[in-house]
Amino acid sequence: MSKQKLSFQAEVAQLLHLVTHSLYSNREIFLRELISNASDACDKLRFEALNNASLYEDAPELEVRIAVDKAARTLTITDNGIGLSQQEAIDNLGTIAKSGTREFVGKLSGEQKADAQLIGQFGVGFYSGFIVADRISVESRRAGLPAAEGVRWSSTGTGDFEVEAIDRAARGTSVILHLRDDAADYLEGWQIRQIVGKYSDHISLPIKMEKEEWKEGENDQPGEMVKTGEWETVNQASALWTRPKKDITDEQYTSFYQQISHDPEAPLSWSHNKVEGSTEYTQLLYLPGKAPHDLYNREKVAGVKLYVKRVFIMDDADSLMPGYLRFVQGVVDSADLPLNVSRELLQESRDVKAIREGCTKRVLSMIEDLAKHEVAADGADDDAKAKAGRFSSFYKEFGPVLKEGLTEDFSNRERIAKLLRYASTTTDSVSVSFADYKARMKDGQEAIYYITADTLAAAQNSPQLEVFRKKGIEVLLMTDRVDEWALGYVHEFDGTPLQSVAKGQFDLGKLQDEAEKKAAEEAAESFKPVLAKLKEALKDKALDVRVTTRLVDSPACLVVQDGGMSMQLARMLKQAGQKMPDTKPTLEVNAEHALVKKLDGSVHFNDLAHILFDQALLAEGGLPDDPAAYVKRVNALLV
Ligand code: ADP
Repeated sequence: MSKQKLSFQAEVAQLLHLVTHSLYSNREIFLRELISNASDACDKLRFEALNNASLYEDAPELEVRIAVDKAARTLTITDNGIGLSQQEAIDNLGTIAKSGTREFVGKLSGEQKADAQLIGQFGVGFYSGFIVADRISVESRRAGLPAAEGVRWSSTGTGDFEVEAIDRAARGTSVILHLRDDAADYLEGWQIRQIVGKYSDHISLPIKMEKEEWKEGENDQPGEMVKTGEWETVNQASALWTRPKKDITDEQYTSFYQQISHDPEAPLSWSHNKVEGSTEYTQLLYLPGKAPHDLYNREKVAGVKLYVKRVFIMDDADSLMPGYLRFVQGVVDSADLPLNVSRELLQESRDVKAIREGCTKRVLSMIEDLAKHEVAADGADDDAKAKAGRFSSFYKEFGPVLKEGLTEDFSNRERIAKLLRYASTTTDSVSVSFADYKARMKDGQEAIYYITADTLAAAQNSPQLEVFRKKGIEVLLMTDRVDEWALGYVHEFDGTPLQSVAKGQFDLGKLQDEAEKKAAEEAAESFKPVLAKLKEALKDKALDVRVTTRLVDSPACLVVQDGGMSMQLARMLKQAGQKMPDTKPTLEVNAEHALVKKLDGSVHFNDLAHILFDQALLAEGGLPDDPAAYVKRVNALLV
């Protein structure tokens, strides 16, 4: 291969522009990114070598070396991992293959601080070298290829890059950063050591640097650090999760989390355990403080990495965690799985099933623990005080995802239900649990009442709540899109049925006294002839028309059958392009309302009937089938 000049893919050019022009707030992350690439390259080699040990050639000890050359003003990061072939150098360092990074570029706001945070989250890797370098050369040889098939890639980080064939005896990759004038700090060995300690202590690979010694200057010359030719390991180089808990500080747990999650913030909590028994594994699991940008992306990769006997196997082992806990970050290291385990095998493995169950239970206990400490008791210890308020911030970020668990994880449904919180007619804050609700139920109340709506305001203003307000009965207000679907799987809590106030026949049971019941029956009886006419007038729109006592101020409302889909959900699914059967709602009227009383004998009966129906539809957030006809009818009456 002769020397060729190639252009970066447009997205790379865009990314490079950002990297070189605005990422100054946290420059040192470039080293974390390059070390992490080097470590990935070693993981890949180890993995491929499982089936082909000759790939180790004569260097089975995997390591990363960092060298500074003050005279040449270069910083070089060398690994003896899998390396790059000539074509791989062109493909991997000239285009952005990962959809995640492309998405990253799409999200850039142009605002420096926000973008810098984003880059942390996405970890755009290799290109971050251009934060400190005005030219980068990469020299590499892929494991297994002959020395003559080495490659040199180089670029100044603007429109294009060059590649050429080189001879390279050593397997693996050297990334040579030609430092910018303002990045001379990174030529100081101690500076690099400090950054390695901060970000890469837990990389399980040794990161080595040449030992330096202080040498006094001669003849009044200042002294300086000189290299000794001896390489020493500058990181802990042991996988954090393999160390005993008591030897690990909170800072170390936190920095490990930041390293694996790319989240610059601290986690809300973590749990580190060695599980013994029929399946042996170590779990180190974290609850993040913030939802990742792709939490609702169906293809989101799971956050738990799988290791087998300390060998990294895969990043996105989604069989280790159920979907509704996909936000959990961490590591599982199994002692039992075979090293060459494949994705297919993972899905069938009984060990994996046991690990998944164990991890699920562990995460639920972590969340329960936060819930328990949400409010710090008087005289609480520091640990408990630190946990206060964390549950609500967890719930704000991940509550809707947790609710998916009701539909997915039957064996833990009760535990999940206990963790759920809602707003209610007594509080706007999303803080009421089913248990809180039950404790406040009125004498004679037999159900937990709730309503689902698109927004809190829509829920609060819904006519179905009128009688509950009047009687001072609390109703849970559910406003997450997932709520109705999730509640389809839960019919009771701790023996008390859940009842939507917008579904089915209205029956307050013992909460209504005999006199009220009697009055309602009488009203219904005397209203019968009008009802029959209403049914006839609305036969295309309403399944049924009946008198209700659920309304106080409104003339009418719409309800669906018990167990049926609410009208909001039906609308939502329709909008999403799903075919929905045309089910009609039932119109319920308030026989005490002046407008309803007017119906009897009115010359406008037909118009009034339709207006009643359409207004009930408007009140719950829908639109009349024929808005123009509705307006015409109202106007006719207004005139
Ligand atoms: P990412 O690591 O997130 O995929 P990068 O931009 O950091 O993105 O790297 C792009 C690709 O370049 C990597 O996926 C990998 O294939 C290759 N690469 C980067 N650094 C190395 C290295 N030290 N050894 C081998 N391949 C590397």
